[in-house]
Amino acid sequence: MIPYARHSLSEDDITAVVNALRSGNLTQGPMVPAFERAVCNYVGSKYGVATNSATSALHIACESLGAKSGDVIWTSPISFVASANCALYCGASIDFVDIDPQTFNICPDLLHKRLVRTKNSSQRPKILIVVHMAGQSASMDRIYELAVRFGFSIIEDASHSLGAEYNSRRVGCCEFSDIAVFSFHPSKIIAAGEGGIAVTNDKELAANMELIKSHGVTRDRDLFDGPSDGDWYYQQLCLGYNYRLSDIHAALGLSQLERIEQFLKARRAIARHYDEQLDPEFILAPFRGENRRSSFHLYIIKTKSPSTAVRDRLFDALVGQGIRPNVHYIPIHTQPFFRKLGFKSGDFPNAEDYYRRALSLPIFPDFPLSEASRVADIINEEAKLP
Ligand SMILES: *Cc1c(COP(=O)(O)O)cnc(C)c1O
Repeated sequence: MIPYARHSLSEDDITAVVNALRSGNLTQGPMVPAFERAVCNYVGSKYGVATNSATSALHIACESLGAKSGDVIWTSPISFVASANCALYCGASIDFVDIDPQTFNICPDLLHKRLVRTKNSSQRPKILIVVHMAGQSASMDRIYELAVRFGFSIIEDASHSLGAEYNSRRVGCCEFSDIAVFSFHPSKIIAAGEGGIAVTNDKELAANMELIKSHGVTRDRDLFDGPSDGDWYYQQLCLGYNYRLSDIHAALGLSQLERIEQFLKARRAIARHYDEQLDPEFILAPFRGENRRSSFHLYIIKTKSPSTAVRDRLFDALVGQGIRPNVHYIPIHTQPFFRKLGFKSGDFPNAEDYYRRALSLPIFPDFPLSEASRVADIINEEAKLP
């Protein structure tokens, strides 16, 4: 079966991991800070806190911004569940703002309306988690304006978006956000096995996240409450977790980062190829917004037909030909767990309509264009059937 996503490993990647294993440090050695610096240099942010997943990075990002019981956090219903769960880990409550049907990102107009309508300021969000779906940045300048006006923080869930650009700057430079989070799960742009990072330009947030990711414990005397008992001494200053990335994973991530331009180039070539091959009479290719460049973590088509039967038929036809597409995502608010929190079908109609029509076609660096043509042919044939 051809998957929708697959990592690309080189001999250099394998050597990098073996070297980390031979170095004597399996964790907390030099590879993690080297990887953090490399990601910061690449995206254009000042500080980076590597974690064992993007999910952990989202959690420490929310904690460092002070999310707690009684606070409200908003995000998009079209994302992986982790974008919403991070609010609940902190005891905050979660709510959603519907998507723009064209970009699949949170809709700035709906966000604006909702903020104006929410007269009681305690029900306005403390944090907005903006997801850059498939690797295309949301409209950050407009969202940032609203954040300033209504007084909330912004976390970018940029799990899909390493290498994506907005206004000619890389996503992760945090020009319009407090913190941005990337994932290094093997399906994403670069792989660390498992892994994530939270990047920021705010020194205090970075220090806070560093503490929370490692038990709330520090060996830094400058941070101690009172004098040190000796060289062995450490203090726990807050409640923390063990969310550290290992040196083995960081070595793989660092080695993969060296090939990111090659990965992005391949992904963008496949996307262009699909754009050209898919029949626009039946299929909506991904919309490309102004002043932005997608990293094409996903290539998501939408059927013109609003019926889920057409999308389901396309899915089955591809599976029948040995190709396994995917659907990203099931609207979070319709998951049984979120229904138990009070959400219901109909709450976010754009997201629900999107879900009936969306299909993620295979896209990954080693996926040949000839196979993309075959995928497009199958889609075009099936889509035009009555
Ligand atoms: C993959 C993903 C995550 C979680 O990443 P992990 O590194 O697997 O924890 C969070 N949000 C989005 C949008 C993702 O795609």
